[in-house]
Parts: sequence; structure tokens; C-alpha cells
Amino acid sequence: MNDTTIVKARFAPAPTGYLHVGGARTALFNWLYVRRNKGKLVLRIEDTDAVRSTEESTKAIFESLKWLGIDWDEGPFFQSGRKEIYRKHAEDLLAKGLAYESDEVKGNHKAIIFKVPESGKVAIQDIIHDKVEFDCSFIKDIVLMKSDGTAAYNFACVVDDCLMGITHVIRGDDHLSNTPKQLLLYKALGFKVPQFAHVPLILGPDASRLSKRHGATSVEHYRKEGYLDKAFVNFLSLLGWAPGDDREKMSIDEIIEAFSLDRIGKKGAIFDLKKLQWLNGVYIREMDVKELCSYCRGYLESLLDTEENKQKYEFVIALVQERLKTFAEVVPLTKFFFAKEIKYGRKAVKKYLLKDGVLDVLDKVLSVIEDADDFSIENLEKAFVALKESLNVSNAKLIHPVRVSITGIAASPPIFETIVAVGKDACIKRIKDAMSFIKSGEFPYELGE
Ligand code: GLU
Repeated sequence: MNDTTIVKARFAPAPTGYLHVGGARTALFNWLYVRRNKGKLVLRIEDTDAVRSTEESTKAIFESLKWLGIDWDEGPFFQSGRKEIYRKHAEDLLAKGLAYESDEVKGNHKAIIFKVPESGKVAIQDIIHDKVEFDCSFIKDIVLMKSDGTAAYNFACVVDDCLMGITHVIRGDDHLSNTPKQLLLYKALGFKVPQFAHVPLILGPDASRLSKRHGATSVEHYRKEGYLDKAFVNFLSLLGWAPGDDREKMSIDEIIEAFSLDRIGKKGAIFDLKKLQWLNGVYIREMDVKELCSYCRGYLESLLDTEENKQKYEFVIALVQERLKTFAEVVPLTKFFFAKEIKYGRKAVKKYLLKDGVLDVLDKVLSVIEDADDFSIENLEKAFVALKESLNVSNAKLIHPVRVSITGIAASPPIFETIVAVGKDACIKRIKDAMSFIKSGEFPYELGE
């Protein structure tokens, strides 16, 4: 490749389902590579399989790419509209005697098949794996056109990569076994061979190929769960690639600047959900609270139905900002601030409410809250200190039962902020309710608890 050749890569998904994490990572690496090298990205929809390809999947893939911020410079091209181009090249190979027609006619056409030489070797010079050699005697003849008149993957891929001027084929190394076949086709067609970079697969925690068995694999799932686009892209970029120093949180510009194919590892990368959650938490903590509010609003929409709840929304979000790992987590962490009736966690009740002396403590707390005319954090804190001293109990013995009574859960933001945000009337009601639940032994538990 001479220096004036512009880098051109492509992302070529088959629209047979949503965009999964592996596809997204492939798309991202292609995108990063062309942006780093001021090249161009082609989007090609490989929809030759009319039965399995759907418009719905194509749309879902576009939407996920948009969310990830991956744009393209050429396309989208649809292989389903390019049948005649593939047929013409297949017929050229027939005419040259390099392919033959199969007698077996299933559809309306005769299949066209490429004849693989019986001996010899095909060598791939891969950017990531270096030299990989294949023996022709192990390669079966290659279907170019199927008997239903459509082109087979290996053939359509080669014809398109050449006609679209692709200089770099960056794809998952599950395609490594296709590459020798594709090389034979490049040579037979007289096409210039692009550079290949086969990226090691993404693995689950048990080091086997990432699949649904390990949990959700669609990009859409992670968007819905409340991962920030920037955090998710940052995480994806580190799946198999590293900047060469110890940076982990990187802006997209920093990633583009540092990106190179030779820093992609040869071994599979483990999809570490904990790391994704951690990284997302880092982004959330750095957010302006108003911005965080807008990301979380959709998850709590149904609870933000009163003026009072709308007014305390920002205060509540600020209270949990430190602890949030995803936007969806605002629901379990904050719904008790807004809900009219709360549900209780079974473990929290058992550990902190169903204990001797709790009713007495709650009764005293009830009086303190009822008597607090100035319902401020400072004032409540003072009143609780006085109560603790007069009851001669530990802080924990006082605070935990109050927390569980008011929130239903064992961990909440600081207790006085929580009491103030829940509000005086609601606190009184919840403590009274909790006391009668303790007496009856019947709590409204959270579903599944
Ligand atoms: N349509 C193929 C896939 O989705 C593309 C493979 C390639 O990049 O050549 O796996």
C-alpha cells in the first residue's frame, strides 16, 4: 500500500438479530482505526440470507450503532441488491475454468462452485496473528452462488471488499477459517488482497466464548440497563486492546489518538461485568447532577407524579450519585423516597426489625419526629443524639430500625438526609406502619424477597 492510499475499513453485519457485544466491538475497532488514520468506514449489510435477515434487525443494528456514536462514511450497502454483480463475477470464473456448475438443482439456478487447488498452501499475513498458513488439501471447494440464486458469504464478501476499495479487513477471529478461502478467491478474480486483522473473540468469565449463557449480550440491553454511551464505548475499546499505559477511563478522542491494531492482544478478552459497572460508576460520579437527573428520569417517571416528588427529585438523585453504578439502579435505591407505600426487604426486616427492644426504640423515635417542628438535618441530628443518650443505646441500635422502617431496605443515603427527603408525614406513617407490622409479624415484602 503506498502512502497516498486512503485507509478504508468496513463493518459488515448480517441482519439476523440485534447488535451483540462482539459485533459492536468489531464495529468500534474498525471505526477507531479509520478515525485514527483519517480513513473511511463502509457499512455493509450482509443480507444475502433472505430467510434469516430481517428489516427489524437492520433497524436495531443501526440504532445500536447510533447509540455507540459509530458513524460511517459510505453506505449502508445491502448485499441483497447486488446479486447481479456477484453473478457476473461468478460467471467470469466459470468462463476462466476456475469454477464449475453443480448438477444438483434445488432452486431455479445451478449452484456455481469454485474449484480449490488440490495441493499447495495459502498463507495469511495477519496484523494480529502474524503469519497463518493453511493447507489447500484441507479446504473444500467453495460455493460462490447458491442454487437459490443468492451469493454465498465468502464470495459476496470478497467481491464487495474489492469493489468497495477496502484496504483493511478487521473482524472477529471466528472468521479466520474463512480467510484462506477468501484469499484463493481474491487471487482467482485478480483482485488486490487487503490487510487482515482478526480480533480475538470476547469471552465469558469462564473463558469460553461469550454467549447468552453468561448473561445479556445485546448492546440494547446495556443501553436499557442505564449504561452511559461513553462509558460503554470506553469499556468496549478495552476488550482486547489497551493504550499501552495504565489508563482505563479515556475519552473517545483519547482512545482514537492511542488506537492501533498492533496493540490488540492475541488472546481472547474477558467480558468483565464488574469492570463495566465500575467504569460506569466513575462516569456517573463525574456527572453534573442535573445531567444525571435527566438520564435517570425515565426510570422513575411513574413515581414523579406529584409536585412534591418532582421538587425533591434532584435532591434525592444527588443523595445516591456516589453509589449508582447504572441509571436503572435509581429504582431500587430511591423509589422509597417517592412511593406512597413501601415494600420491605426480608433480610433487612429480620436483621433489624424483628429484634427485642425495637418497638420501644421506634416508639420513642416516633415522638421525636412528631415533635420536630424544625424538620432540618441539623435539628434531627441533635434530637437523635439526645434520644440515644437517654435510651443509652448504640447508634446502630437506633439508626438501623429507623432506616428499615422508613426505606424498607438496609442501606440508604445518610439517615438524616433520608428522613428529611422522605418528609415528616410519610416518616410518621411509615414508623407507625412498621410498628404494627412488627406486632402482626406480617410485612408487605418486596416481590421475590
Ligand atoms: N457478515 C459477517 C458477520 O456478520 C461479516 C464477516 C466479515 O466481516 O467478513 O460475521
